[in-house]
Order: sequence, then structure tokens, then C-alpha cells
Amino acid sequence: AKASGLGSYCFYDREMGTEVQERVRLLRNLRSAVQHDRLFLCFQPQVNLADGRIVGAEALLRWKAESGELIPPDRFIAIAEYSGLIVDIGQWVLRNACHRQVALAEAGFAGFRMAVNVSLAQFRHPRFIQTLQGAIADTGINPALLELEITESMAMLEPDYITGVIREVKALGVSVAVDDFGTGFSSLSYLQQLDVDRLKIDRGFIRAMQATGGTGGSIAQTVIQLGRNLGLSVIAEGVETVAQADALHQLGCDEAQGFLFARPMESTELAAWLAGLRD
Ligand code: C2E
Ligand code: CA
Ligand code: CA
Ligand code: CA
Repeated sequence: AKASGLGSYCFYDREMGTEVQERVRLLRNLRSAVQHDRLFLCFQPQVNLADGRIVGAEALLRWKAESGELIPPDRFIAIAEYSGLIVDIGQWVLRNACHRQVALAEAGFAGFRMAVNVSLAQFRHPRFIQTLQGAIADTGINPALLELEITESMAMLEPDYITGVIREVKALGVSVAVDDFGTGFSSLSYLQQLDVDRLKIDRGFIRAMQATGGTGGSIAQTVIQLGRNLGLSVIAEGVETVAQADALHQLGCDEAQGFLFARPMESTELAAWLAGLRD
């Protein structure tokens, strides 16, 4: 029994070893990608469901590896958070997104909102508010057109602390959306205390939504109602079909984002796409 126990430990160790090596390699490559400007942003438009107008976009991080391969954020955000590298990356994302917003405003797209994903490690960083202030001051963005997306699970982790940071963010005139909403378990009273501006219904519930209803649909409906009761705007992510968009509009959802309207695009592509709609 002892021998087999030892054997399984050896096996386990070797497995762990490769996983750790893989992570170390990924982190080393990510650091080098940051240094060599191989990270860039794509922007996915957000649409007002009532009139079809484009109200803004969400900035989404991309990593182009030396090999030319595009590495999706799901593969490196976690390690960037774990290593703390997300603080520098996040600061770069914030500034870059603000610059883009200002460029679009100057190109005549007035009122265009820019949403930026912020992770817990950034939010918890003692200098986060300073960083945010710096990005606003240096880019000249109208803070009312900047929105931070924090996930519901993150907001649940350290309620008191997060509530405090949100208050400071809002004091700068920046708005806050709760991302992946419906996947956590925030209570009504907690949501009220959070003082956010928008709920973003998680893609999973939109995917499960049928024109006829179903569990995904009823959760979407519940979130929309909740938003209305609290006076919050509601946006749906991952909208892929006209049926979903129609149903969401019927249910009173304000905005939507998803492949139905547009895929995430590079900034030059976005500007051309927006100009095409205007003409
Ligand atoms: P998220 O914030 O929930 O972003 C939405 C994701 O859904 C994006 O994936 C987007 O490309 C994808 N998506 C949009 N519309 C559709 C659709 O109609 N159908 C489907 N199937 N997918 C759709 P992406 O760009 O791969 O990002 C994945 C996650 O990585 C994001 O999820 C976010 O949590 C994280 N992330 C991305 N950029 C950043 C960043 O700058 N900072 C941080 N902290 N996290 C980021
Ligand atoms: Ca998001
Ligand atoms: Ca989301
Ligand atoms: Ca999501």
C-alpha cells in the first residue's frame, strides 16, 4: 500500500510539474508580450435595443503571439491576475481604451461610451483610483463616457471594500457595470448598497434563451426586472440571434452586445464600421 501510495505521489508530482512549467512559460511569454507591445485591444459595439443606435463599445484584450497565433484572454487573464501582471496590463488597457474613446469623439462620434474590464487585483490595488484619475487627466476623456465592468463574483468577494472603491470611482464621474450578472448571488440590498449604473446579463442566460421562454429566458427576465426596480440600465451580452434581441427588447432590456450586431474589431476597423453606419 505504501509503495503504491508513493508511486501515485510521483505520478501526481510529475503532472503538477508540467502544469507549473506550462504556467511559468506562459507568464514569461506574457511578460515579453507586454514589453514588445504584442497586446492590443479589440472593441465590440453596444447597441440600444429601442432604436438600434450604437451607444458605445467594450474594450477586449488580445495577445498576438510571435508565431502570429491569437491567444484569447481566457487563456492568460487568470495568470496575469495571479502574478500581479494584470495591474500593469490593466493600466495600459485603461489608457488605451480612453485614448480610443477620445479619438472617436473627435471623429464626430459624440456620446460614445467606452467600457473597460477591470479585475479584482486592479480594483484592490491601493493606487487604482490614482491610476484612473491619471488616465482621465492624461487622455482628456469625459469621465461620464467611461465605464468600468466588474464581475458579480468579484463584487461578492469583499463587499465592503468593493463598495468603497465603487464610491470613489463614481465620485470621479465614471460609471460602473456589473458583468456576468446572474452567475453570482448578490442580494437586492447588496446591489442597492453597491451603487452601480448597469447590470450586464451573462451570456449563458442569453444562450439558454428561447423565443418561447425557458430557464435562461426567465433569468434574463428576472435580471431585467431587478434592474428596472433598482433604476439601473440593463445590457445583455452574447446576443447572437434576432429572436434573442427581440425577446430582450420585449422584456424591457435597454441594450445589447453580441455577434448579431458586430464582433470585436480593431480600432481602425471600428472607426470605419461606425462611419459606414453614419453615411
Ligand atoms: P467578458 O467580459 O464577459 O467579455 C465578453 C466575451 O464574450 C468576449 O470574449 C467576447 O468576444 C465574447 N462575445 C461577445 N459577443 C459574443 C457572442 O455573441 N457570442 C459569443 N459566443 N461570444 C461573444 P473575449 O474577448 O474572449 O474575452 C473573454 C473574457 O476575458 C472577458 O469576458 C473578460 O472577462 C476577460 N477580458 C477581456 N479583456 C479584458 C481586460 O482588458 N481586462 C480584464 N481584466 N479582463 C478582460
Ligand atoms: Ca466584460
Ligand atoms: Ca461578461
Ligand atoms: Ca460572461
